[in-house]
Amino acid sequence: MSDIEMPILPEMADVWQQTLGWQPDSEQQKLFQQLYELILAGNRQLNLTRITSPEEFWEKHLWDSLRGIFSQKSEKIAGLSGKAIDIGTGAGFPGIPIAIAFPNYTVSLLDATRKKIAFLENTTSELGLTNVNTITGRAEEIGQYPSDRNAYNLALIRAVAEPSVCAEYALPLLKRGGLAILYRGQWTTEENDTLQPALEKLGGIVESIEEFTTPCSGSIRHCLYLRKVAPTPREFPRAVGVPAQKPL
Ligand code: SAM
Repeated sequence: MSDIEMPILPEMADVWQQTLGWQPDSEQQKLFQQLYELILAGNRQLNLTRITSPEEFWEKHLWDSLRGIFSQKSEKIAGLSGKAIDIGTGAGFPGIPIAIAFPNYTVSLLDATRKKIAFLENTTSELGLTNVNTITGRAEEIGQYPSDRNAYNLALIRAVAEPSVCAEYALPLLKRGGLAILYRGQWTTEENDTLQPALEKLGGIVESIEEFTTPCSGSIRHCLYLRKVAPTPREFPRAVGVPAQKPL
């Protein structure tokens, strides 16, 4: 696989440092490279991602995944340890870069598609990541399982559904006091208005919203930080498909 161009581009060390105040060590750099190669190889069999050029992979998969956790409250998130869950992880984003960068977190990669989970099992085994496990299933079901409900310190969710649906997937999985990070593109007042009543029902609040510009393409992105401040009523998440069909 060594013929594939290096995506992590050593010159990006400064960009990591300037934008996140962090940069991968040589072992983490090697793991990011291996991850890129495994995803390119997996893409030949599975439709994993359209983001395949080295620069785009670096920015949209690696940097973007980590930007969410290096928030202005980074010490409160990155410095903690515990259980994280990546809901609708797809090819492993943002969960795998976070597991590589923060071995203090145990990261569960959840996806409804069995083939993607099989790919992720193979990938995390190849990478030798001991702080990652996988779950095949729908967030609506997993959120009602006693082993997963109220079990996580951190829930990550990127490119899965509209914000109130993401909140219904994520909040039941969090311990009280836990944090959900919703990775968004644009953030509109309309989305804000629809999220608020959902959060009231689910026991969450918006702790902060951060807008940022990506370092290569200059795209605007947002991260929403939702804190679970009260228990989520037993009826949530609702049955499979209902959150998306009838958002709260
Ligand atoms: N989070 C990844 C990323 O940002 O690159 C993947 C995003 S992909 C567009 C959405 C993924 O969410 C798909 O892999 C899909 O199978 C999964 N998904 C959608 N709804 C889900 C649900 N209710 N429970 C679990 N996984 C779900």
